[in-house]
Amino acid sequence: IARGTPGFSGADLKNLINEAALGGARNNKTELNLADFEWARDKVMMGTERKSMVMSEKEKRNTAYHEAGHALVSALLPKSDPIHKVTIVPRGRALGMTAYLPENDNHSYDFEYLSNRITIAMGGRAAEEIIFDEVTTGASNDIQQATDTIRNMICRWGMSKSFGPIVFGSDNQMNVLGRDIGKDREYSEKTATEIDEEMRKTIKFHDEKAKKLLRDNIEVLHKIVEVLMKEETIDGSYIIKLLKKDQSNVVPVGG
Ligand code: ZN
Repeated sequence: IARGTPGFSGADLKNLINEAALGGARNNKTELNLADFEWARDKVMMGTERKSMVMSEKEKRNTAYHEAGHALVSALLPKSDPIHKVTIVPRGRALGMTAYLPENDNHSYDFEYLSNRITIAMGGRAAEEIIFDEVTTGASNDIQQATDTIRNMICRWGMSKSFGPIVFGSDNQMNVLGRDIGKDREYSEKTATEIDEEMRKTIKFHDEKAKKLLRDNIEVLHKIVEVLMKEETIDGSYIIKLLKKDQSNVVPVGG
């Protein structure tokens, strides 16, 4: 439970345990087990399950490819958090989710981890685009998250090769394109344009990387979706198993 709740405070954990107890009581249980806590964790982190929400077959399939895209890209990248589970049961405002289990309560991240997170965020939309040749509004949170990460990497964390270790603008004063909307901008219009350009290039790079990973493993992507459509929720370990099976089918070339 601790691994699946990074950054939770004591009060958050208390809330989670309370939810687990309420859920258990509703099911006339006299003792709680891990399943109750996992159910409560998902409810606290992602909102209540909306099993009764009617989704069209097409919407379900779209969501399945979207979530499978995140999960598969994540499973293919080293140095990313292990997948806990993938589901297409709607929760709160989300139509599906891919949950991760970070191995440590990290407070600082390196370039590779952040870059992988951007690729994983683009993975959902990338899968929709590859399969259906169109994208839905379901990816807006992912795009926001990727954009924020890239903006911080360039403007705050000095992780851009082109700009080097320099901070552009002050906290919370930038709009999504990294353009400072505060009054005392500390860089020129020319630099602002360069930051915009760097952000566009970085997003495009990660989008293409996600698409390549998915295209190279398209059979596994289809398989994950097939199982998701049937089971609605699958375990992260199942995806790893599928990948291993898929790779063992490849005949090694040249010894
Ligand atoms: Zn997504």
